Amino acid sequence: MVNATRPLAHLSVLVVDDDQISRRLAAGILRSVGIEQFVEATNGFEALTHLRRSAEAVDIVLCDLDMEGMDGIEFLAELANQCPGAAVILVSGMHRSVMAAVQEMSKSTGLRMLGAVEKPLDRKQLVTLFELLNSPGEAATVKAAPESFSHAEIVEGLRNHEFMLHYQPKIDLRNGRFIGAEALARWQHPTRGIVLPTSFIPAAEQGGAINDLTWTLLEQALRIASGWYTSGLDISLLVNITVGFLEELAVTENILALTNRLNVPANRIVLEITESMATTDIVSAIGSLARLRMRGFGLAIDDFGTGYSTMQRLSRIPFNEMKIDRSFIEGATRQPDVRAILESSLELGRRLRLQTTAEGIESLDELAMLKSIGCDTAQGFLFARPTEGAAFAHGLTSGTASAIAPFAK
Ligand code: C2E
Ligand code: MG
Ligand code: MG
Repeated sequence: MVNATRPLAHLSVLVVDDDQISRRLAAGILRSVGIEQFVEATNGFEALTHLRRSAEAVDIVLCDLDMEGMDGIEFLAELANQCPGAAVILVSGMHRSVMAAVQEMSKSTGLRMLGAVEKPLDRKQLVTLFELLNSPGEAATVKAAPESFSHAEIVEGLRNHEFMLHYQPKIDLRNGRFIGAEALARWQHPTRGIVLPTSFIPAAEQGGAINDLTWTLLEQALRIASGWYTSGLDISLLVNITVGFLEELAVTENILALTNRLNVPANRIVLEITESMATTDIVSAIGSLARLRMRGFGLAIDDFGTGYSTMQRLSRIPFNEMKIDRSFIEGATRQPDVRAILESSLELGRRLRLQTTAEGIESLDELAMLKSIGCDTAQGFLFARPTEGAAFAHGLTSGTASAIAPFAK
């Protein structure tokens, strides 16, 4: 399987459908857009055998769901094993909620879902999805299996000062202004290069290194922010904190002491509360959260819409910001059901007087949609990818912020 950027006509496509008429229709459309390199398989077994035997790489798999023998769901699970990262478009007459569920499942197994179209196949829709193959942001949605690290490795990394932060700007959608930056943890690993937080935060939580790690990162972030404020840059700093960290009794006083020492105003710091392990006892953290809010810190509920007891947490914690998970932004431009959930979340946010932030905007379509439904602020690759502190600061002084603004206006 290759995912390289290429013109449409050079793509190679595998059509998996047990219905002859549907296969013919697909073949006709493929030819009409100049794609000559395609193979038809009448079921999942045939498709997998073709993929195993063929010397030619396939760029996109068009997959029906309701097939005799091996159905589409089973086929996609096998495909994920045989060709990790394969690009897939669902073509089905199934209800869109079924298609959405299959897309979700397939993404979590590492397939690259370009989207789903209802039968009968429509040329325009198909071409739009084909074009996604070449869009840079989409590649990021393919999840690599997270690596895992031992407690000892994390402790060693901490001792060697290998943990650091990258920063991603946050934009006010009402005026296009750059108003904040989220600090995201990175591990500059001596042999594995830059390691992303999903590979080490869970291990740090389980092994007990999370508190040391959080203090290390918090201090780094506040030092950077201190520099911003000294140079007159008035933006907020968003830091990710797991609930478990807030169970420490003295945590509020210690955070306050740190902000005072580094001369950073509390009302410029937003603590993003990420879903921790399901077992975390949130009750013991609520006191710390309330105290921090009283002292002026902002509190954001991160990844809103995912995880456990989201509604219960909203009602018990004094949040002032809601960050809506990327999965709802991505889905809402294509699926009316997802859009309904997104709009209701924004409405809920407004009624609770929370600032609403969309996470992970990648396209101008997503941006236009979010502005039309009144989302307050956003972050995403469309504006900027997270970058390390010095490059981020350089971007600020050399015009990244003003380069971002035209997109958002
Ligand atoms: P998060 O706080 O929801 O952060 C957003 C994630 O989405 C980041 O991934 C960011 O790089 C990514 N992202 C931003 N824009 C886009 C986009 O347009 N498209 C896509 N596909 N992704 C985008 P990252 O840095 O890998 O962080 C993953 C998660 O790890 C974070 O999710 C957060 O829950 C956790 N995390 C990060 N840093 C820390 C930390 O210092 N402490 C703790 N406890 N957790 C952290
Ligand atoms: Mg976050
Ligand atoms: Mg998030």
